[in-house]
Amino acid sequence: MRPNGSRALTRREALAGAARRLAGASETPRLDAELLLASALAIERQALLLSDLNEEAPAAFEQLVARREKGEPIAYIVGRRGFWTIELEVAPGVLVPRPDSETLIEAAVAHFGANGPRSILDLGTGSGALLLAALDQWPTAQGVGVDRCERALAIARANGERLGLADRAQFRLGDWGEGLEQRFDLILCNPPYVDAGADLPRDVAEWEPHEALFAGADGLDDYRRIAPQISGLLGQDGIACIEIGLGQAPAVTALFAAEGLRVDQREDLGGRTRCLILTR
Ligand code: GLN
Repeated sequence: MRPNGSRALTRREALAGAARRLAGASETPRLDAELLLASALAIERQALLLSDLNEEAPAAFEQLVARREKGEPIAYIVGRRGFWTIELEVAPGVLVPRPDSETLIEAAVAHFGANGPRSILDLGTGSGALLLAALDQWPTAQGVGVDRCERALAIARANGERLGLADRAQFRLGDWGEGLEQRFDLILCNPPYVDAGADLPRDVAEWEPHEALFAGADGLDDYRRIAPQISGLLGQDGIACIEIGLGQAPAVTALFAAEGLRVDQREDLGGRTRCLILTR
């Protein structure tokens, strides 16, 4: 019995109640409830599902559900998000890593195979997701992650430390590729590409950093900044994997082609053109 005389909910009851409460706030209410309860118990979701659901749910679960009900992304509430082979710490200063962006890593793996690139540049690194996933993939590669936001760099550095990749990752403050002298075998970049008028889901629009999402009236402002820099940053046989938004392939291809780059395309798992591959 709790102090007010009520019985604590079992895990099963708590999950069912939370899933009902979250139905209006999320497209995946049951999954969200499971992830939040697992987080409150400090165990993995699989362990929760295999556990005895007649056990009591912890009191802390209620606050996590209340945060999700207000639209806060699951990744910020639990503080973690899996990406490629790694798990990243995420917080409101950085974009939540998305499976779509794994298309860039997949394209790089298809190009470089097991030997991998020696040097990697991640422009607009945020949580460090792309750079750290690539460094995890290729154990002898070195990389630089650039961001113009100190808060993001602090999160990226902490991720590098936690994943044991810090000795191969350098994170620096910068404005895209400006001031970088080195050339790289692999350039990764997921810039902001959402147009200013876009109608984003509430949990994105109200919680994720607008600097990482919006790129002017047509969503192409940052590609215009990046396009003239790529040739000077790319090694002789290097490739750049650049993320793009829905329907942007023709316009962004034209921007990079105008700089004399060869442009190829890769689709994400949903069959949308998600990544442009640039070569010199
Ligand atoms: N893919 C993200 C979204 O649609 C946008 C990320 C970005 O602008 N780089 O929410």
